[in-house]
Amino acid sequence: MRRQATALFLLVALCGLLSACNYQDYFQSHSGASANAADKFDGQQAFNHAEAQVNIGFRPTGSPASVKTGDYIKENLKEFGWQVSEQPFDQTVNGEVFHARNIIGTLGKGPVIVVGAHYDTRLWANNDPDQARRFDPVMGANDAASGVAVMLELARVLGHGYTLNRELRLVFLDAEDNGNIPGWPNFSLGAANYAQHMDVKPEYVIILDMIGDKDLNVYYEGQSMNSDPELMTSIFQVAIDLGYGDSFIPRLKHTMIDDHGPFIDAGMKAIDLIDFDYPYWHTVSDTLDKISAASLEKIGRTLQTFFEKTGVIVRS
Ligand SMILES: [Zn+2]
Repeated sequence: MRRQATALFLLVALCGLLSACNYQDYFQSHSGASANAADKFDGQQAFNHAEAQVNIGFRPTGSPASVKTGDYIKENLKEFGWQVSEQPFDQTVNGEVFHARNIIGTLGKGPVIVVGAHYDTRLWANNDPDQARRFDPVMGANDAASGVAVMLELARVLGHGYTLNRELRLVFLDAEDNGNIPGWPNFSLGAANYAQHMDVKPEYVIILDMIGDKDLNVYYEGQSMNSDPELMTSIFQVAIDLGYGDSFIPRLKHTMIDDHGPFIDAGMKAIDLIDFDYPYWHTVSDTLDKISAASLEKIGRTLQTFFEKTGVIVRS
């Protein structure tokens, strides 16, 4: 209220000085609540981003499809008003150099908060029940595309109608998912690269992975509960308050090797929102029909509401 009154006074004062100033225009552009109203996270829009990734094809690190996926992420971030940067890095595997890159969307000013998800898909479906298909690639509708999909829809929703009280970084991580494949040194190579080169210590890091399953069951994750139990339980409480108690079960279940690991190793607080009860994990059946807009929406709206409740974002 006070800020608006001051702005109005200044405007009137300015109008006195500048003959070209159009008083009417000010009210038309600033009074329309609908023009500035924040949108709710829309599961269908998120699902469309997952579909777009799957339509590109298998997206392992260093492949032309991975480059296309990265470009798709960049285009969307720019469209939603985020500043985009890249962190390229090379990984040599059995003498072959793979060009990888993390993609970072940044919006707002203040202490840093990171939301991350990997966008690469796994080279081998080594968990497939059919032994003959275990060297086939994974399509990764859930294992990669779902996390990216939620982040891109979040980018749209947070990109207008809000003032950000933090520097929010949406980090799309490469080279997460080829661990335990001969020649690849580890999982989470992109996350390690990003975490080790961070210029500031973030307030916290939230990793999203495998959060699109039609039958969504997210539990407390082990490493997260050691790193930042308050963050994890607060997010679950928001989800439960929103009526998503069927999908957010406030109980410790799995402990994961995932992209939160390198951030924790680097001394940061990080949690992993993941539904590891997914029968198609690292199989050729991790396809678009296994995920749903409704599940993506539960994750997205939970994060949007959590950021609102904690003052990270304020409706403008
Ligand atoms: Zn995976």
